[in-house]
Amino acid sequence: MRRIIAPVPQERFQIVCAEPYSAAALARLRAAGQVAVLDTCDDRALAEAVRDCDALLVRSEARVTRAVLAQAGRLRVIGRGGVGLDNIDLAAAAERGVTVVHTPYAATDAVADLTVGLMIALLRCIPKVDAMVRGGRHAEARAVCVARELGELTLGIVGLGRIGRSVARRCRDGFGMAVLYNDIIEPGPLPFQAHPVEKGKLYAESDVVSLHVPLTAETRHLIRDETVAVFRRGALLINTARGAVVDGDALARGLRTGAIGGAALDVTEPEPLPPGHSLLASDRVILTPHIGARTVGALERMNAVVEDVIRVLEGGTPHCPAAT
Ligand code: NAD
Repeated sequence: MRRIIAPVPQERFQIVCAEPYSAAALARLRAAGQVAVLDTCDDRALAEAVRDCDALLVRSEARVTRAVLAQAGRLRVIGRGGVGLDNIDLAAAAERGVTVVHTPYAATDAVADLTVGLMIALLRCIPKVDAMVRGGRHAEARAVCVARELGELTLGIVGLGRIGRSVARRCRDGFGMAVLYNDIIEPGPLPFQAHPVEKGKLYAESDVVSLHVPLTAETRHLIRDETVAVFRRGALLINTARGAVVDGDALARGLRTGAIGGAALDVTEPEPLPPGHSLLASDRVILTPHIGARTVGALERMNAVVEDVIRVLEGGTPHCPAAT
């Protein structure tokens, strides 16, 4: 007699989305498991959420710390839709056997575009003259800023990774800027002209310094009083990497003394800057609210992290695991 074995209902994966994902991404996750969407991603909410889930999805706000991970029961994978893994304790995740996946290429062009935009806005004093024109000071505004052209300037890129290269290529091939760069790894052959230099030489010889390093113990306050002191006088600084790569107080001092001519910051430490912070008062600082990756294409590409999350849950090999 043939025995009929009823299929054992498979336990569904428990998936927690701590930050927003698109409707299509959520639908994809729901096809793979039970999905809970959090309305807050503070440390307490996260610690509670990881107790009983197989997958956690975050973006840039949730901080997946060692303390949060200590609460994890059966967590197998963390998906970080976006670029930059400084909000996840990678060592603690690795110790617990939790795989971290991300979308390293999602925002490259978006951040590079913004960097170039900020460079031109800073050089041509666009926010300042815009405010003057609106205030009825049209003629005066024409006189406040007679700038140099990009093609006459040297750009120094700190961190020639995906975004750094993308900025370098735009600025070298698009605007004819001379490009210096510094990186801790040898980048191999480059499809544009650029010269490797030590950091001190880069700061001393660049008209515009643009930061594209990840936030690590080594890059925290990379730009500080000692660094500002060697900048080419009046050089411009652009930070679209992470706020803590720049010591904001040292930057404010550099702006006051004229050591730094202007700064454009998409990221600050903290975010947002508290009311009364000296950088908020300076008309030589352009501030944007961490919008480097906020393009339709980049936000959409970040949703693709759900595919790697599902791959890991189903026992497959992820396409974009974080390097530990
Ligand atoms: P990447 O890993 O491709 O490039 C980073 C480069 O920095 C690497 O080549 C690395 O070797 C180099 N580096 C690391 N430490 C260094 C040091 N001490 N000195 C010199 N070089 C060093 O990363 P990416 O995709 O180019 O992104 C860079 C950073 O941009 C991210 O880590 C993230 O923090 C930031 N980011 C910001 C936004 C935004 O919205 N503003 C969006 C995406 C990424």
